Amino acid sequence: MKTIIEPFKIKSVEQILFTTKKQRTQILKDADYNPFRITAEDVLIDLLTDSGTSAMSSRQWAGMMQGDESYAGSPSFFHFEQSVKDVMGFPIVIPTHQGRAAEKILFTILGGKGKYFISNTLFDTTRANIEFSGAEGIDCLCEEGKHPTIPAPFKGNMDVDALKKVIREEGASVIPMVILTVTNNSGGGQPVSMQNIREVSTVCKENKIPFFIDACRFAENSYCIKLREEGYAHKSVPEIAAEMFSYADGCTMSAKKDAFANIGGFLAMRDLDLALRCRNLLIITEGFTTYGGLAGRDLEAIAIGLKEVMDEHYLQYRIRSIEYLTNKLIEAGVPVMQPAGGHAVYIDAKEFLKHIPVEQYPGQALVCALYTEGGIRSVEIGSLMFGKYDNGGKLIPSQMELVRLAIPRRVYTQSHIDYVAEVIIEVFEKRESIKGLKIIEETPLLRHFTAKLSLV
Ligand SMILES: *Cc1c(COP(=O)(O)O)cnc(C)c1O
Repeated sequence: MKTIIEPFKIKSVEQILFTTKKQRTQILKDADYNPFRITAEDVLIDLLTDSGTSAMSSRQWAGMMQGDESYAGSPSFFHFEQSVKDVMGFPIVIPTHQGRAAEKILFTILGGKGKYFISNTLFDTTRANIEFSGAEGIDCLCEEGKHPTIPAPFKGNMDVDALKKVIREEGASVIPMVILTVTNNSGGGQPVSMQNIREVSTVCKENKIPFFIDACRFAENSYCIKLREEGYAHKSVPEIAAEMFSYADGCTMSAKKDAFANIGGFLAMRDLDLALRCRNLLIITEGFTTYGGLAGRDLEAIAIGLKEVMDEHYLQYRIRSIEYLTNKLIEAGVPVMQPAGGHAVYIDAKEFLKHIPVEQYPGQALVCALYTEGGIRSVEIGSLMFGKYDNGGKLIPSQMELVRLAIPRRVYTQSHIDYVAEVIIEVFEKRESIKGLKIIEETPLLRHFTAKLSLV
């Protein structure tokens, strides 16, 4: 098989600014060892997130110029609405300014004290919005998903028995919704199988619990189903996506992921009553129902991006580039999540930095080392992001200590990825010299965004 090439040509480029290791050491110190606090110009290769960082196509840019900025009834809205309907099949589409705005609306309406939302793994903003409403989020991830370095095809699956157990113990009446995250972002970008989606849907129907999909990476998940699940090799990605959504009552979506947009999101659903309540809240928080916090031009970019993302040459290149980096690291003995997920490479920091205890945030220590060594920005998905404290103030660590290298869509080429591999391998060879960190300032929710740390 020949090299899988980037399925695009580059029309416009952005200059990367170079820094020295000495400069980066100071920059990181000034940012209190939290790369969220660094100016993006001081980053060489930015793998902080794949959210809102996609390169838009010339077709999307052309669509932006045609965006209609009417307050009500913009043709751009109808274009957007049609595109979502074509791809997902939900009859009701409500635009929001990003994914978490959709979550905020949904969980404000359905959440509240005494309620439980069940998921494979809730993404951090999803969990935060659920908890902010007073409700609780419960993750029922399958056993394979909990072992980062043991490969399995669908490590994002929900543990259906665990789901049934929670329903039995708490009662369906206090469970307003089950949410399946595809691919499972916080669980390593691992896909969910069609069979699992079908089973979860059946359990929800039996118990009359609405079933939503957190659809941010629906195309990447669909392509993984095509590659890995029996019976799907000959189905097209649009067919697979349509089948996936056919089992659900609705979805939340961040268009900053698989719609190649720099901003945007939406809620889509079948239930008219729920939609009415969502739209009421939308109007006081996001805006009128035909723009929901977005400009007409953004709606155009999403409408076009949602279709583009299902191109199988693109998805082949996309999934392959994650696998390419993962394989290079495996060959060098770096402990990474296996198999490769849809949008990111995840390093197992607990394994990588065995000498740093979880109380000293090995994931964040590795994030800092990758920045200092090579100007690469990544993000910790471990106890800095998900850790809690017990009543005695002792850290309750996250299940895993991961470092995520999220690959922006259509942004970096193979040589950028080769450089990233070289830096990680270099850091791995001198891992003993990396020091742990302690938190010196933090907020109660989503602390990883703003926390200040210092070297132990
Ligand atoms: C990004 C993301 C969200 C939130 O979307 P935003 O547009 O960042 O607000 C929700 N769920 C998952 C799985 C995500 O990846």
